[in-house]
Amino acid sequence: MRQRLRVAQDVFAVRQLGREVARAVGMEQQDQTRLATALSEVGRVLLADGSTADVVFVADVDGVTTTLRVTVENSGGSRAAELGTQLAQVGRLVDTLEVGDAGNGTVVRMARRIPASAPPLTPQRMDDIRARLANHVPGTPLDELHVQNEQLIAALDEVRAQRDDLARLNAELEETNRGVMALYHQLSDELEETNRGVVALYAELDERSLQLRGASEAKSRFLANVSHELRAPVTAIIGLGRLLTDEASDSLTEEQHRQVDLIRGSATDLLTLVNDLLDLAKAEAGRVEPRWTDVDLRAMFGQLRGTLRPLATRPEVDFRIDDPAVASLRSDETLLGRVLRNLLTNALKFTAAGSVRLSVRRVDGDAEFVVADTGTGIPPEQHERIFEEFYQVPGSSALSGRGTGLGLPYARRLAGILGGALRLESEPGRGSRFTLRLPMTVPAP
Ligand code: ADP
Repeated sequence: MRQRLRVAQDVFAVRQLGREVARAVGMEQQDQTRLATALSEVGRVLLADGSTADVVFVADVDGVTTTLRVTVENSGGSRAAELGTQLAQVGRLVDTLEVGDAGNGTVVRMARRIPASAPPLTPQRMDDIRARLANHVPGTPLDELHVQNEQLIAALDEVRAQRDDLARLNAELEETNRGVMALYHQLSDELEETNRGVVALYAELDERSLQLRGASEAKSRFLANVSHELRAPVTAIIGLGRLLTDEASDSLTEEQHRQVDLIRGSATDLLTLVNDLLDLAKAEAGRVEPRWTDVDLRAMFGQLRGTLRPLATRPEVDFRIDDPAVASLRSDETLLGRVLRNLLTNALKFTAAGSVRLSVRRVDGDAEFVVADTGTGIPPEQHERIFEEFYQVPGSSALSGRGTGLGLPYARRLAGILGGALRLESEPGRGSRFTLRLPMTVPAP
């Protein structure tokens, strides 16, 4: 489609034509106005110097997209640079706008995409559009002014509607913001409140643990003092008992002899208890300082074998101390010996038949001592309790000796002092297995 512009009034005609073409190819109302306005502005600028201009409309179908291209060319000399600045704003009305020099004039090329929703531009339809536009009779400038005014009113209406929408949206946004701020304040108030509570709780916890530590220290001090004070008189009673029953003393009646033996027996039990209490109190008060030496385990195991053999009197029990798989380790010989002796004595006390066995091996760089027996075993719910002071499994009765319930808490304390740990696996009826794990070298303080 082609049209020639000769005089300034033709700008109105080309504007109408642009709108008609845009409508015919299926552009929306606003795009029709945009294209018409762009075209009339380009026409006005190109005709301003009194020259004539040609306008060409081409529908360019490229696969799925269809573009309407409009070329306007005048014969007023090459002024592309100058006219380009004048038309800079017009470019916003179309998708692309280029101004260039052509022969002895200036050429403006514009393009605008036709929406995909528009009916396809078949050759048949193109023929129809061309025929319709050929019969198009341009209206007068007044008609065009009228159309423009109507479009302006419609555009202004739309702008107002958009502004109202925007104002409503802003109001909603403000409302939401107020809500969010209120929520935020509420949350931060709650957080502050919670934090205050947590801080107070921690202060109370600190206070309590200080009190607890104080109480525990007082208990240890009390035990240490009392047991220390008790040791002398109890030892004296035992000594006096021995004197009374001595061959060299005046002879006693049989009944007196029996009673003095009872007194001595009770005093010996009492002395064991006092000694155990003193040991535990010292360990708890942190008054046990290990003396680190290279402990020869072969020698230590030999000694244990010798001292405990007399306790393993039952032929039904196989008492075995294996040759150590670890030659030596850095530890306190006396304390380690006490822990192992305690565990072995317990095992012998609670094993009627089967075996009691001590072994040691390397595990992940540590030494692991295991005292395993096939005795009565300990119910799972008592596994931690037997490490409490004076606790003895209800109903359990030792095959020999009475016990104080202080041996295991003491053993666990010593394990800790030696930088290790003592743990238990046991099943009632099947036996127990105490594992003492110690570092091979002096632990860091
Ligand atoms: P004691 O042996 O003087 O009673 P312990 O603290 O050494 O005190 O042991 C506490 C309790 O744990 C024992 O009274 C006993 O009930 C239980 N126990 C300890 N070792 C064994 C074991 N090897 N087999 C079964 N029970 C055990």
